[in-house]
This record gives sequence, structure tokens and C-alpha cells, in this order.
Amino acid sequence: MEDCIFCKIVNKELPSNNVYEDDKCLAFHDISPQAPTHILVIPKKHIRSLVESEGSDTELLGHLTQVARDIAEEKGLEKKGFRLVLNSGLQAGQSVWHIHFHLLGGRKMSWPPG
Ligand code: 5GP
Ligand code: ZN
Repeated sequence: MEDCIFCKIVNKELPSNNVYEDDKCLAFHDISPQAPTHILVIPKKHIRSLVESEGSDTELLGHLTQVARDIAEEKGLEKKGFRLVLNSGLQAGQSVWHIHFHLLGGRKMSWPPG
């Protein structure tokens, strides 16, 4: 998708600090980390938001959560805990319109989120 920064990252037109990559997804460090570990897990397919995903994306979205789980374990977060966040829409604060999970960990999280 033209003009999508995450598609440009997938296509290597923009740099990223990658943590994991396979044929369906890419994980890389967030440019503005909100926790000691802040990694974005994105599909290579351009999907604008969770609302705009379809039933046929179910397997892909499940794959992203498993990749996030494996990265959390690799980063040693599985015992202390971590947070997996998906912002969908303006009021949730979504700013990049290519669906992504935030994997956040390494500090105590508060609830409710701001
Ligand atoms: P959202 O607000 O849409 O849920 O999350 C977008 C995230 O993408 C933000 O945490 C922001 O810091 C991150 N981000 C925006 N542009 C870039 C970029 O060019 N590179 C990386 N690595 N992260 C980005
Ligand atoms: Zn995109």
C-alpha cells in the first residue's frame, strides 16, 4: 500500500530494527518505546485496522499473537508478564493505519490504560 510507513518497512524502503521475520509477518522495535521492551508485530499484508480485518484474516491474526508470545518468551517476559495492545480507531489512539500489536514489557503496567 502506497504511503503506508509499515508497508514501506515491510518492503525495506524504510529502515527498522527487526526482531523476527517470516513470510507472513515482521516484528521490530518501536521507534518511540513506551517500556523497556516495546516491539511491534505486524502482518506483511496491509490491513488498515482490526475493524477492517475479515474472517479470512483470523489465522493470520492468530499467528501474530503466537509470534508475540514467542518473542515475549525470548525476551524473558513470560514470568513477570507483558502486555499485548492493539489500538483500533481514533479514540483508541491508532496513529498508523496498518494493523499492529504492541508487545510491551519490562516495567509494571497500570490499569486502566490512559
Ligand atoms: P498506534 O498509535 O497506531 O497504535 O502505534 C503506532 C506505533 O508506531 C507508535 O508506537 C509509534 O511510535 C510507532 N512508529 C511510528 N512510525 C514508526 C517508524 O517509522 N518506525 C518504527 N519502528 N515505529 C514507528
Ligand atoms: Zn500498510
